[in-house]
Amino acid sequence: MPVTTSRRSVKDKYVQSYPDDLSVLDEALNKGLSGSSSAVANYEDALGEWFGLSHAVAVSSGTAALTVSLAAAGVSPGDEVVMTPTAPLCTVYPIMAAGATPVFADVRSDGFGVDLGSLDKACTARTRAVIDIPMWGYPTEVDQLQAFCDDRRLPLVLDLAHSPGTTLHGESLAHYGSMSCFSTHERKPLATGEGGFILTDDSNLATVCKSYRKFGNLSGTSLGMNYKLAALPAALGLSRIRYLAEQIDQRRANARFVLERVTNPHVAELKVIDGGEPNYYSLLLRLNFSDNDAFIDYLDERGIPSDIKRYGCRCLYEFPAVSSYRSDCSRSAELLASITTLPVHGGVTQADLEYLVEVVNSYEGG
Ligand SMILES: *Cc1c(COP(=O)(O)O)cnc(C)c1O
Repeated sequence: MPVTTSRRSVKDKYVQSYPDDLSVLDEALNKGLSGSSSAVANYEDALGEWFGLSHAVAVSSGTAALTVSLAAAGVSPGDEVVMTPTAPLCTVYPIMAAGATPVFADVRSDGFGVDLGSLDKACTARTRAVIDIPMWGYPTEVDQLQAFCDDRRLPLVLDLAHSPGTTLHGESLAHYGSMSCFSTHERKPLATGEGGFILTDDSNLATVCKSYRKFGNLSGTSLGMNYKLAALPAALGLSRIRYLAEQIDQRRANARFVLERVTNPHVAELKVIDGGEPNYYSLLLRLNFSDNDAFIDYLDERGIPSDIKRYGCRCLYEFPAVSSYRSDCSRSAELLASITTLPVHGGVTQADLEYLVEVVNSYEGG
């Protein structure tokens, strides 16, 4: 079927301003600008409530959230941290910056969850933490992973930067980790420009995280850095979180619209695990063409961006900066070579959605 619609350009991110942004910023300006402002504490309360966890610690970025979590988990130079290589560079750099060694375990065959056999082989006496990274908002088997980590008394850090609103058995994925890390960078579902936060139900870990982000409370007894979130992004976050559930519903509806209409036999949604529900940060298609990159290029040439192309996604140890931690995770490589993302965020219009379907279905490669 030829593409009849004229060429469109589908936005790869949704930068939105909200009617109350200026008023909440104005109010926050009068309460102080630093991380000690009541705007930050109020934002943390709202985060804990939204996700259903007892403690939220706001920090300056998702990277800061990972850095602080690793410190709270006791990760020190020479320790090992196990993760899958399908994550972004943003997840592995904090491990390396802590002087620890990233050790890669392979994914399962049908998604981004870590294979427990591969994880077991990757764990040594030096393993100090495990990081799981559900990609593009698709849930992973964090329940099984938590049981694995509990057995071995290993902290489980979840990098949920893509996954606010993603659930397993009706609960936020954050419910399953020792600590869960989020980013509120402009591209993420809850956007404050730059920013991040940690969620935990463990009050000791929350105390350590809060201390570490603030120079160890300047007591001089334990190391810390400054990773506090400033008051203005916190005020934006506090205001914008009220729209988050509705926006995730919109993403889910958009994904459904596309999936119900895609008829190209070489594409299917990535398998959603039993009991899980993605937030549709992106819609993930599993591709089965003789040349998957040619399909991704075809979409790209028609104004439909893919994160796979944009970030040059490959196993992390294939990047020069990470190559000294090379491993052989063949299923991870296969997975990254056989998927693409489709934008379904709130900035994608109904006409865009119809266009997406039309372009996917019009591709004639096999
Ligand atoms: C965005 C992102 C980060 C880093 O967050 P920043 O706020 O940009 O520092 C970490 N991990 C994942 C999976 C991300 O998508």
